Amino acid sequence: MKTVLGDEQLTFLAELRTYLDGLDPALVEATRAENIEDPMQPRAHGRRFLKRLGADGWLGVAWPREYGGQGRTAIESWLMAEELYNRRLPNGLLTLNAIGPTLMLVGTAEQKAEYLPRIRAGELEFAIGYSEPDAGSDLASLRTRAVRDGDGYLVNGQKIWTTGASVATHLWLAVRTGRPEQRHRGVSLFITPMDAPGITITPIITQGGERTNAVFFDNLRIPASQRIGAENEGWSGIVTALNFERMFYHNEPRWELRQLTDWAAGAGLLDGDTAEAHELQAVVGEHAVDVEICRLFALRGARMLAEGHVPHAEASVNKIWWGELRQRICDTGLDLVGEEGTIATGSAYAPAHGHLEHGLRSSPVWRFGGGTNEIQLDIIATRGLGMPR
Ligand SMILES: Cc1cc2nc3c(=O)[nH]c(=O)nc-3n(C[C@H](O)[C@H](O)[C@H](O)COP(=O)(O)OP(=O)(O)OC[C@H]3O[C@@H](n4cnc5c(N)ncnc54)[C@H](O)[C@@H]3O)c2cc1C
Repeated sequence: MKTVLGDEQLTFLAELRTYLDGLDPALVEATRAENIEDPMQPRAHGRRFLKRLGADGWLGVAWPREYGGQGRTAIESWLMAEELYNRRLPNGLLTLNAIGPTLMLVGTAEQKAEYLPRIRAGELEFAIGYSEPDAGSDLASLRTRAVRDGDGYLVNGQKIWTTGASVATHLWLAVRTGRPEQRHRGVSLFITPMDAPGITITPIITQGGERTNAVFFDNLRIPASQRIGAENEGWSGIVTALNFERMFYHNEPRWELRQLTDWAAGAGLLDGDTAEAHELQAVVGEHAVDVEICRLFALRGARMLAEGHVPHAEASVNKIWWGELRQRICDTGLDLVGEEGTIATGSAYAPAHGHLEHGLRSSPVWRFGGGTNEIQLDIIATRGLGMPR
């Protein structure tokens, strides 16, 4: 680790571990159990846990001191996300590391004063309202409409795949304020509380069992003061938040590989001088290399952020590698486990506590979540390699 992290970062990590080790074990255990059940839905204990971290000054470690942060770099917040993930605890990443920093870049002074202290205290949780039934990859065709009405806007339409909407306090919402043919030049960005009149949320359960949502707007009223950026100029805030979000994916494959190796070791598959054991060691070794590469891609992004750059193609490389690796590892796990691999999570008979079976169901979803891998390949070709659009 010394080769990629400096002494200052290793000291930070040691301090963080001491702090986490000293937290109330009952709070940590309750939060962990809830988080393992569905990491896409931070709920009551997760919120209590994040508020504890906020109150103790451990949220927003990379935020500038003027916004109440510790003034460290994105590398420390990346390290913190990794440490929390390894302990299977929530990290509030989307809100803290995507919405917060985007607000710092494009929010007004009033918006920063209104939201940043509460985000840093762990009080707010944002859901992202971009995708619609007919606007996913082609987000610039979105149709949910906001029409000017006095000192505010009236919003009508529908979002889909709005993960966390049922537990979030606020929605980061992209809507059409211009003409459809203006495409991304006619899109504005707003913040609205999730409990505002005119919002209805219905669940969608993914094949991994995690919940996401459809969200409907019926004359939702949003004050103009809650528009992020100028009217019709919300696109850069949308893209910036997405790039911040994609950069922090990397922890899951390491955990999934550990489930696989622990199970294989327990079943004696890695023992002895047999052809099967050597073959399996080779496959596991290859996955371990890929897990390290995944970590280094994410660290490269954190380093870019630390140096004041927003990763674009780099974030896409990271997202593809992470998502596809998860699937490869779970495929290997299920091949090894064989028929018993179909025993679902929750059964006492499920090998590896059902984590590989669950991983196989849930990992393909991430070919789509955060922007599909095909679209990431486009971004790598055009923005990364400079090929024509
Ligand atoms: C688990 C999960 C969580 C999500 N969470 C959120 C969230 O919180 N908020 C939110 O707003 N959205 C969220 N999404 C939505 C996600 O961003 C979209 O699914 C994604 O952008 C793709 O849109 P789509 O589903 O409409 O597929 P489509 O855009 O219709 O794509 C269908 C297929 O066509 C391919 N395709 C489309 N256009 C091109 C092209 N130009 N070149 C090559 N191939 C192309 C795609 O790669 C894909 O394989 C989530 C999705 C999932 C699965």
